[in-house]
Amino acid sequence: MNPPPFPLDPSLWHATAVPAPDCPPLDQDVAVDVAIVGGGYAGLSTALHLAERGVSCVVLEAREPGWGGSGRNGGQVIPGLKYDPNELIAKFGEEAGKALTAFAGSTADTVFDLIAKHGMNVPHVRNGWIQGAHMASMVETAKKRSAEWARLGAPTEYLDKARTTDHLGTDVYLAGWIDKRGGAVQPLSYARELCRAAQKAGAIVHGQSPVQGLAREGGKWKVKTAQGATVTAGKVALCTNGYTGDYYPKLAQTVIAPNSYQVATEPLSDNLRKSILPYGQVTSDTRQLLLYFRLDHEGRLLMGGRGPFREPTDKSDWAHLERVIARLYPAVKDTPIQFRWCGRVAVTRDFLPHLHEPEPGMIVNIGCQGRGIGLESTMGKALAAYLATGDRKALPFPVTPVKTIPFHGLNRAYVAAVVAFYRMSDAGLA
Ligand SMILES: Cc1cc2nc3c(=O)[nH]c(=O)nc-3n(C[C@H](O)[C@H](O)[C@H](O)COP(=O)(O)OP(=O)(O)OC[C@H]3O[C@@H](n4cnc5c(N)ncnc54)[C@H](O)[C@@H]3O)c2cc1C
Repeated sequence: MNPPPFPLDPSLWHATAVPAPDCPPLDQDVAVDVAIVGGGYAGLSTALHLAERGVSCVVLEAREPGWGGSGRNGGQVIPGLKYDPNELIAKFGEEAGKALTAFAGSTADTVFDLIAKHGMNVPHVRNGWIQGAHMASMVETAKKRSAEWARLGAPTEYLDKARTTDHLGTDVYLAGWIDKRGGAVQPLSYARELCRAAQKAGAIVHGQSPVQGLAREGGKWKVKTAQGATVTAGKVALCTNGYTGDYYPKLAQTVIAPNSYQVATEPLSDNLRKSILPYGQVTSDTRQLLLYFRLDHEGRLLMGGRGPFREPTDKSDWAHLERVIARLYPAVKDTPIQFRWCGRVAVTRDFLPHLHEPEPGMIVNIGCQGRGIGLESTMGKALAAYLATGDRKALPFPVTPVKTIPFHGLNRAYVAAVVAFYRMSDAGLA
């Protein structure tokens, strides 16, 4: 995989984030209880919660904390998984399904609780997340989803066409539902502040320290970085998600890692701001290749969605999102686009996050499915509990064998074909 240039320029989040924490490269051999590969939400939250338990740990990040999906996403904090609570029970049985539902329902709380507990300097709001129904069959889905979560005590509500239009400021959706547990963060600031909190708790975080290989010697893990320095650790946690390369065999072939694309306009006038998402929610829709949009903390309209699987080559790779803006919000269509960027998510074949333990003392967390701010923050907490105690009950998902996707190389071509197909069948706006 050929990653986009570093730094995140021209990402909106990079331009408006708090300064990066000091994370020098690893320049000498060290020994700790746990080595963590990957400095996104998953790795950083694992480090924070391990350090709080008094377990010594080192995070090795190839670029800088938040360089991956965690610093590039839409900033929409959305509880839940791609599966609804009754689907989780049908898939995992009554007890495990209910436990998973409780985990999924708690993920947004984790983010806002961490921000409050550590006094993080992260622009954030918690006015809810709305999912708009883009076609008639999805109106029933919106009703059902909202009712299922409401029965479990969650603050959710079905929105008919008129209320959806009122909340979103566009009349293209047929209905929707609101989950008031959701909200928004400046995602790169959140990653950087999570890193600072982990460091303050005692975790060591090294940037510019790509892991090249892992070997087990005498009951310990030797984690080797590109610069030659090695971390010796009792246990390792691999948290590289959509940016997983070949540092550990077969892992990258267990997921498809498509790019998700975003644009942000220049800050809108006060009048326009009042007409778009006027009550401060964030939103995504029920398309297979969903559209997600919101205003940021400085009044820009952000629009995200599909795009080419490959890395972008020029502005035309985002042109479809500009057409969506014009369709949803005609009054914004002449406002210049200020930022264009993209990042990779990791999708598994069953659309569930995967946990693997391919060798003793190694835990792998991969497959965020594109909704990971809450998920990976909460997963880090669970991984830390498991790494500290060895109790598998601490893990929200079953530990499964590493299973590669057959014909993985071809699957990239397949993703491109699926994108083209859904573009037609999603009653495309662009
Ligand atoms: C464009 C976009 C929009 C999104 N929108 C949303 C949203 O609105 N809401 C939401 O909840 N989720 C969203 N997501 C998903 C969310 O960003 C991810 O689920 C989440 O950031 C995953 O966190 P992570 O820690 O698992 O992985 P990442 O943040 O991707 O971190 C993995 C890290 O591993 C590092 N790494 C890779 N290989 C090595 C190596 N060999 N050695 C050392 N380090 C290595 C990478 O540099 C990277 O920093 C979006 C994602 C993208 C890309």
